[in-house]
Amino acid sequence: MIVTRFAPSPNGSLHLGHAYSAIVAHDLAHEAGGRFLVRVEDIDGARSQDHLVEQFWADLEWLGLSWECVPAQSSRLESYLKAAEQLRAMGLLYPCQCTRAQIMATDPVIGPDGPIYPGTCKHVELDEDGPVAWRLDMQKAMQRTGPLSWEDNLAGPQQMQADLLGDVVLVRKDEPASYHLASVVDDAADGVTLVTRGADLFSASHLHRLLQALLDLPVPRWHHHRLLFDASGRKLAKRRGSPSLADRREAGEDGVLLGQQLRLQAFPSGISLQPH
Ligand code: GLU
Repeated sequence: MIVTRFAPSPNGSLHLGHAYSAIVAHDLAHEAGGRFLVRVEDIDGARSQDHLVEQFWADLEWLGLSWECVPAQSSRLESYLKAAEQLRAMGLLYPCQCTRAQIMATDPVIGPDGPIYPGTCKHVELDEDGPVAWRLDMQKAMQRTGPLSWEDNLAGPQQMQADLLGDVVLVRKDEPASYHLASVVDDAADGVTLVTRGADLFSASHLHRLLQALLDLPVPRWHHHRLLFDASGRKLAKRRGSPSLADRREAGEDGVLLGQQLRLQAFPSGISLQPH
């Protein structure tokens, strides 16, 4: 059974790109008689806003989607602590006190997801009294698992290249997990079999495959769909003037019709032609 999910973060309103993502995930599941889950990714407590979650439900309903709600990340903190403890006990995490400014001052290599951590704290004894983040020792982690592969519906078979992102933070200074750790733990707990999201998270999936191997979690398939851009070729964002779904809804636009248009863009020859 195919189980997909849409996992919005309540730190901004949803826009057309989110609608596209939700429709792709919804249709891939429903067409195959599977389940479509929605998970609110509110791990970032400081930036999460409750009123946006209410807005999300209204937006998805307006698009004509039906979904199953699974618990939000803020109610699953224990499971992230447990996963981090497991990795720490394996000797794969090290504490880091560097600030972003300090990292940028080292003139780091810029990877697909931002600066690659230069490893400053890896070999020093830290005073763990102050706030620390915990980073994955990528070299050790990859030695432990050996080569891994994963499968994307559209891009085909992939050899894991988790080191693209360097020694990523898995436990943030201010939160019990980072997006990467939380989302891997949740996808396993929710029984997700097809991780459906935008192509901007493609490199993250290499890391997620590694985390699944380290934590002994089931390995899903992935479906990274293309991104929608605005007229000037930039990713859609409300701050750059792309209207939110809530704006469109409140202006009286027909959400079901919009959903149909997005569906045609996503699956121009019908969904059954998409490989599973
Ligand atoms: N919460 C992420 C976002 O809103 C989505 C991550 C995912 O689908 O894995 O960008």
